Amino acid sequence: MIKSLVGVFREIVTGERFRQNECGRCRRCKKRWFESEPHVTMVNRYQGYFAICEKCWQELGTFGKRLPYYRMLLDEWNRSGVPCGSSYKKSLMKALAKESCEDYLKKLDKEKEEMVASLFS
Ligand SMILES: [Zn+2]
Repeated sequence: MIKSLVGVFREIVTGERFRQNECGRCRRCKKRWFESEPHVTMVNRYQGYFAICEKCWQELGTFGKRLPYYRMLLDEWNRSGVPCGSSYKKSLMKALAKESCEDYLKKLDKEKEEMVASLFS
């Protein structure tokens, strides 16, 4: 246990962890986080995670299209031994689904307003 913690610490300090996996960049367009704004999915009031950048989030548009990139994030957590149980992962997936639904409803609302506006223009 201690040995693995030392290993994780060394990887983080040396940046090895970021080079080995995709932590340091958008999992879709591969831009590094200093080149693109990450889209943060809040799991609760204080914790948020990002798998893709804001531009990719908008382009993908739906839960189903975004899901594979969040799965990549979970796979990376598994491989790198990030201590998180299934309830933790479930919370992230729930947050992603909720956020995607809210996003979709907002787009529908906007579309509805535009349709109504066009009737009276
Ligand atoms: Zn991207």
